[in-house]
Amino acid sequence: MLSVLDAEAKILDLATLPQALAHTESLDLHQASGRVLAETVVSPLDVPHWDNSAMDGYAVRYIDVQAATADQPVTLTVTETIPAGQPPTQAVGPGQAARILTGAMMPVGADTVVMQEVTQRQATQVKILAAPEVGQFVRRQGSFYRAGSPLLFPGIGLNGPEIAVLASAQYAQVRVYRQPRVAILSTGNELVEPGTPLQPGQLVDSNQYALAALVRRAGGLPIPLGIIPDQPQTLRQAIATALSQSDIILSSGGVSVGDYDYVDQILADLGATLHIRAVAVKPGKPLTVATLPPGATGMPPLYFGLPGNPVSALVSFWRFVEPALRKRSGLGQGWSPGFVSAITDQPLKATGRRETYVWGHLRITPQGYRFELAGGSHSSGNLVNLAGTNGLAVVPVGTTLIGAHEPVQVMVVGDLR
Ligand code: AMP
Ligand code: MG
Repeated sequence: MLSVLDAEAKILDLATLPQALAHTESLDLHQASGRVLAETVVSPLDVPHWDNSAMDGYAVRYIDVQAATADQPVTLTVTETIPAGQPPTQAVGPGQAARILTGAMMPVGADTVVMQEVTQRQATQVKILAAPEVGQFVRRQGSFYRAGSPLLFPGIGLNGPEIAVLASAQYAQVRVYRQPRVAILSTGNELVEPGTPLQPGQLVDSNQYALAALVRRAGGLPIPLGIIPDQPQTLRQAIATALSQSDIILSSGGVSVGDYDYVDQILADLGATLHIRAVAVKPGKPLTVATLPPGATGMPPLYFGLPGNPVSALVSFWRFVEPALRKRSGLGQGWSPGFVSAITDQPLKATGRRETYVWGHLRITPQGYRFELAGGSHSSGNLVNLAGTNGLAVVPVGTTLIGAHEPVQVMVVGDLR
């Protein structure tokens, strides 16, 4: 059985980064947040685009005011007022100054801005009460960025700050990676859709909905394909359908060694290469990872056969599917789950034989992170106490107990609040 780390490494190896243009699309800037940049962004404009003032004050020639003091102020003649957005109409000559506002273009001749707090205005004249430094409060054209050099690189996530950069670089549209399409199918004769009255022995398919939500959150495009009964023909057809329209296929259930477990055989029939059969993790030991023959876009679809138990399916998603999904989404620096060191409120127990993930709530305190074990049963079939989970505490192989108030590594799987 593979260790968790070996399984993760193997999966990341199999999840190739998209390269071809076919994996990208052009979006309006408003649509691009949360997506991954697929082009090198180069601005045709210097930043700042003109020499401009960083202050409300007076644009002056340094040479005129270098000796100014409160006792011996220098008096200059004000030529005009330059608000932001309006170009200067005249040069500043010897003995002159222009009233200038923050962000406005510097007039020709002036090289320095004196902030208004050290000036005294009298009609058309202004007294400069202190000598500035040469060039003070002038934002020089190109001092932040020179037109033509690369500004942003492919593989970065786009959010507020990056979108601001794109907008100022004149990008009304931007090329991003297409979101990986993730087909989701639930296998099991016992499963029914939410809203259906249960016949004896039936169970509501919760995995379909949970996985779709997690896929969306991780930047993928879920394609829910519904419930597939445990019949080889139907299952084979469903996986073939999934193959034709997705980059990643997630099935849940049917991968253990029960009588109705056909998935591995079907995968073999479809020409898949099986890479992982099981991982030394709890919950989630049975995990099938396979690659299928490359489709039209040239990237081999990745198949994850997740355990059927709701908790196992979610933990497997967080630990193994999400890194692959994020990588397929184009993130250049890769992505790996975030682990933090926290103090556990309750004792955490495990058998010590497999790396164990226990679910609960991670919170930020002024003293650091705290982990609170979810109440109720920690059976992998219990999804009732999953609500509110944002952290999985890790009990390593060889450890059977982490005592209350001891430090523990916690994998962050949701928002911290
Ligand atoms: P399996 O891996 O198919 O043997 O399923 C293991 C357990 O998970 C069984 O109790 C199933 O009823 C349950 N299960 C399987 N699929 C789902 C699903 N989509 N939603 C909720 N529970 C499921
Ligand atoms: Mg089943």
